[in-house]
Amino acid sequence: MKQKEKYIVANWKMNNDFSDIPVFVKYLKKYAKNQDNLVVCVPSVMIKTFAEESKKTLVETGAQNCYFKDKGAFTGEISPNMVKSAGATYVIIGHSERRQIFGETNELINRKISACLTVGLKVIFCVGETLEEKSKYKSVLKKQLLEGLTAINDLSNVIVAYEPVWAIGTGKVATTADIEKVHLYIKDTVKENMGVDVPVLYGGSVKPLNSTEILALDSVDGVLIGGASLKAEDFVKIAESRG
Ligand code: PEP
Repeated sequence: MKQKEKYIVANWKMNNDFSDIPVFVKYLKKYAKNQDNLVVCVPSVMIKTFAEESKKTLVETGAQNCYFKDKGAFTGEISPNMVKSAGATYVIIGHSERRQIFGETNELINRKISACLTVGLKVIFCVGETLEEKSKYKSVLKKQLLEGLTAINDLSNVIVAYEPVWAIGTGKVATTADIEKVHLYIKDTVKENMGVDVPVLYGGSVKPLNSTEILALDSVDGVLIGGASLKAEDFVKIAESRG
């Protein structure tokens, strides 16, 4: 993937407020006018506002999760169609916080990915090993990938995000050698089993200080950023580090 086209994806998690949206978008309008492939995944109640505010920009809006059912008695959940009609084009599925805090299984994640693709959303599918699983990362990632993508025949709207759990929000970044090694493993596993190439993003304590060397790696097709995506200045600095 061309350096300038690599994805820069923000994950606000349960942070920022409605009042931050116009400030953030105004900064992007001024300083990231020509930057492509920028996605900001906001809390679900903010999707519509963020999408409207950023309408005339190249920035796309994403959700951080959704349910796989279309409608019904699922108190507190939102459907892929609701996410889409609110103005999101992307959705993060299988984030480690969803897996660890909310008990999401590979099977549930698979149903969510499938439902989101059916309505035309682009899916950022997160995989990653915990610290305890680090020595057996290959089997952990293979299981997450194959079970998460079971029976999904068209992967053209799927982007994988490799997020080692031990690197999320901890300030510990995987070494560039490790990132390269694991990204190639993910790409090879998907190619061998599904016959296609998928883009793979890296996530885990990406900041303006380390993004240049991470984004320069051939096997890295972009980054997924938590903490450093909350302020537009840092987000734009990371986007600019694509060169
Ligand atoms: C994330 O949660 O997707 C993430 C990468 O967080 P952080 O950048 O804060 O480590």
